[in-house]
Amino acid sequence: MHAYRMLIDGEWVEARSGRTFEVMNPATAEPMATVPDAGAEDVDRAVKAGRRAFDGGWRDATAQERGRVLLRLADTVRREAQRLATLETLNSGKPLAESEFDVNDAATCFEYYGGLATKLHGEVLPVPDNALSMALKEPVGVAAQIIPWNYPLLMAAWKLAPAICAGCSMVIKPAEQTPVTLLELARFFEECGLPKGVVNVVTGFGETAGAPLVAHPQVDKIAFTGSVDVGKSVMRAAAETLKKISLELGGKSPNIFFADADFEAAVDGALFGVFVNQGEVCSAGSRVLVQKPIYKKMLDAMVEKAKRIKLGPGTDSSTKMGPLVSKAQMERVLRYQEIGKREAKVATGGGRPSDAGLQRGYFVEPTIFYDVDNSATIAREEIFGPVMSVIPFEDEADALRIANDTPYGLAAAVWSRDIFKCLRMVKKLQAGIVWVNHMQPTYVEAPWGGYKMSGIGRELGPWGAEEYLQVKQVYINLNEQPIGWY
Ligand code: ADP
Ligand code: MG
Repeated sequence: MHAYRMLIDGEWVEARSGRTFEVMNPATAEPMATVPDAGAEDVDRAVKAGRRAFDGGWRDATAQERGRVLLRLADTVRREAQRLATLETLNSGKPLAESEFDVNDAATCFEYYGGLATKLHGEVLPVPDNALSMALKEPVGVAAQIIPWNYPLLMAAWKLAPAICAGCSMVIKPAEQTPVTLLELARFFEECGLPKGVVNVVTGFGETAGAPLVAHPQVDKIAFTGSVDVGKSVMRAAAETLKKISLELGGKSPNIFFADADFEAAVDGALFGVFVNQGEVCSAGSRVLVQKPIYKKMLDAMVEKAKRIKLGPGTDSSTKMGPLVSKAQMERVLRYQEIGKREAKVATGGGRPSDAGLQRGYFVEPTIFYDVDNSATIAREEIFGPVMSVIPFEDEADALRIANDTPYGLAAAVWSRDIFKCLRMVKKLQAGIVWVNHMQPTYVEAPWGGYKMSGIGRELGPWGAEEYLQVKQVYINLNEQPIGWY
């Protein structure tokens, strides 16, 4: 069992308190590592290191230098891919093939921002005077980055890469459940050319490490991915010193199937939309809206396929669904399943698997509820597990009404062979990401973020870098005479 330290100011350190906590393998419910249990003192040290690194030179690093650092990080992730993927699976539970996918995506994210670093630039504005008016882009300063546990390395890359690209320094906190892959990547920061203190990794719990981090007066920007309730508290903490914020907070995304959709693609797309990554996906298509003419047939086909999804440890190559990340998350999902049984009908699943080999880990059956009313708890609250709520609808207007009747607005998908219908839906769906005839593909080139209570701001693409930049307006008078007013 590895005893990790955390990275503050270029040094591998323990928490000042000396406390550590165990990180679990959710497939076996056995500890796999220990990490420092950081508190406010450690966070303060890390933020001050970030501040010193920023003011002491990193703010003046050239775009080329920052780009090269990012390209080296990308190469490192690719070189270490197999090891990182295996550790990601051991720590988060997800099938190895999915971890491999994530690790590759993380490398691509560093590459993208490595290329973007030299393409971020300001503008010259055509003001009506003998002058040059410019909008310069400058890094905001020290960023606090709070990472969730569902895509541990990938979500860290989504935050580290644009911040380095923009020239910020940062303190990043992985989720307490899944700190391992980020700590492994951090071993290479120095050789990738990151000066000490530019990226600090602090391990700890939300209340004791996350809260002091987002409240720290020397933090200029917060990037948070996680639950709505914590998102609200982050926003409140940001208000104290008016920090810039971006929040990615999950959803209850509709996956909408019209009767004229390709049937096989529909069945597959509905299952993939909500069961990939054990359903621990902020954009999970957890509300499956099916048009009445195909409702029964599609439900039966989904159930038949869902029953064949192979549960097991992520390290087994035959596994299609791993355990949930933690005991707490398993219990939360089981609670929702009990609520669902009172609110709707169970087509398959609904509890823990009975196989003897799956009793120790945090496994939950892929579950399909049907005849779900959109007002039911299982249709309104984010479950973050392999639970699908199937809801029938009549026509386009009905589908739109149900789809948009949610406090969330992260993602939506619509399936049909009629492109006119699809595009009408695209225009009216209240979501930051809308897929047509697919659900979940995500590309670093394209913006990611939510409408309504799914968040504020956008990650990825140039939008992701803008979150770490501020604009300075500069006016240069080209007249050589006095103003002549007095
Ligand atoms: P979950 O409850 O599913 O674990 P959270 O939103 O609590 O989701 O966790 C997402 C991330 O937010 C984790 O890194 C966690 O440590 C962090 N976090 C939790 N509570 C707080 C808080 N009060 N302030 C800052 N970060 C927090
Ligand atoms: Mg929490």
